[in-house]
Amino acid sequence: MPHVRVLLQRLHDGDHVVLGNAEQHLQVVSTSGDSTWRGAVRISRPDDHWIIEGDGGPLSGRAAESMSLDLFGDGVLPGAKGEPDRRYPGQFRVVVTDGVEGWSLINVVTMEQYLPGVLQAELFAGWPAATFEAQAVAARSFATMQVLQRSHAAWDVTDTPATQAYMGHATNDEAWAAVDATEGQLLLFNDALVPGYFSSCCGGLPAVGVDAVGPHEANAIAPLAGHGSPIQCSDAPVYAWTRTVPAEGVHEALQKWAVETGTSDIGRLQGVEQIESAAHNPHGRATMLRITDRGGNEIVLTCGNLVSALASLPQGPLMSGWCTGVRQGDDIVFEGRGYGHGAGLCQYGAARMGRRGRSTRQIIDFYYPGAVIEQRWGDRRRD
Ligand SMILES: [Zn+2]
Repeated sequence: MPHVRVLLQRLHDGDHVVLGNAEQHLQVVSTSGDSTWRGAVRISRPDDHWIIEGDGGPLSGRAAESMSLDLFGDGVLPGAKGEPDRRYPGQFRVVVTDGVEGWSLINVVTMEQYLPGVLQAELFAGWPAATFEAQAVAARSFATMQVLQRSHAAWDVTDTPATQAYMGHATNDEAWAAVDATEGQLLLFNDALVPGYFSSCCGGLPAVGVDAVGPHEANAIAPLAGHGSPIQCSDAPVYAWTRTVPAEGVHEALQKWAVETGTSDIGRLQGVEQIESAAHNPHGRATMLRITDRGGNEIVLTCGNLVSALASLPQGPLMSGWCTGVRQGDDIVFEGRGYGHGAGLCQYGAARMGRRGRSTRQIIDFYYPGAVIEQRWGDRRRD
């Protein structure tokens, strides 16, 4: 069974983290030797060495670039700004990455310990068991692909929806039950792993993997070419949405993103007047957008790039790039469909299928057409 390395925090050289609590023991493993600490410890890296402070008195000195911290019992990360503490299974690891300023706090956890914290963070409590199980198979497949593709990197996934959300130790029994019932099960197509992409709501028409995620060959397969009909998610609160944003803010965000990414043609725009579909996939979902200014200048960009470009809007990011925008007075009124990239499993659609009595297998067949489920590890062999 693979381990997953989850990036929890990126820290700068002046930052610190506090790990553990009064009941815990922390074992620190480094090239300087192993040591055991009782209670909470504070870890910092003021210049190029680690400092660990706790009840045992400060231990300072040059340690390996990567330090492995074993907490006995679930590790605790105190919540920031009045938020509750978070508990984590597995180990903590602090790492300095070549060429990247600062350091990172990583949770190293087995796949089956990791997944309940994904399901609880990604799905609503009370959704059907089949929905949780289909999501478990998708999330396990996605994370396994990340592990395989990122062996050169310090971490495999983040704990945010940029990869898949993760809350540490899950408290929801449905999440644990779904992971247990699908132990070791992965999505495969022609004996190759399917990266089980998913999003909150496809808005009715699916995205294709290569458009939504990237032109990697692992994405150019039939199971990621989009689901068929009928539409399953039309009752989702995020199925269709409207957002009003000051036009000047949209223009400024586009220009800033253009500079950051070297996308020079956006500099031609003297404002934003209209955003409309410029191309769509075989299902009819927009893939490219045309942005026009008052003078008739226009640029074309992908739906995903529009979401990236407007991610920093004070009004919050767009829920999806499948949208249009029209100028009304000083504002752009966006009208969009769905929430997330729209490829693979649609969580709201999978919830509705579960409520209608569809099985885990039927949900997987609908959202990953042609994929098979195979158990690759675990004791729990089933027919
Ligand atoms: Zn959907």
